[in-house]
Amino acid sequence: MAITVPIFSNFFKRKYPGFVTKEIYQAPNHFPYQMALLAGPYYGDEDYYGSLLIDLSKMEEWATHHAKATWTSVTAEQEAKEYFPRWVSVFNQYVDAITFLDKSQRGFLKPYALDFVNKGWFQIYCPNCKEFFHEIKNNDHGKDRLGSTIKWIAEWQCPNGHVLHYKKHEIRIF
Ligand SMILES: [Zn+2]
Repeated sequence: MAITVPIFSNFFKRKYPGFVTKEIYQAPNHFPYQMALLAGPYYGDEDYYGSLLIDLSKMEEWATHHAKATWTSVTAEQEAKEYFPRWVSVFNQYVDAITFLDKSQRGFLKPYALDFVNKGWFQIYCPNCKEFFHEIKNNDHGKDRLGSTIKWIAEWQCPNGHVLHYKKHEIRIF
């Protein structure tokens, strides 16, 4: 029998109720505009100097699949994820404005920032150039493996070489 996401999440909730963070999700009561601010100084993100916008008009199919295929123990993020496909399906294409995302939406979306960049569903604002770009220079470096720990530095630059995102990563493989 295949373990589906609902089976896994029910098992997890029963077995580890303490790990399930219960916080009520307040779904947004407005329709989004096409572009949403995913990460940047506006939200206090210390790893982003640039402002990363994602294109909601491209995201309904991804969001639908993602909501079915993954599960998070943070209840508010899980509810935000399940609500998201419906929300992006009614985006307002007639007004050129930017949508702000809530904490729970950012919680499940931000780890996929590089995927959205690679798919081309983004624009990024460089505060030095004072300009939006549709491409980044990916300058990840410093990859190092020590025993079971892998480290690297993620760094994105604008086409003129200004750093827009910088983050040290460290993961442990068991
Ligand atoms: Zn720049």
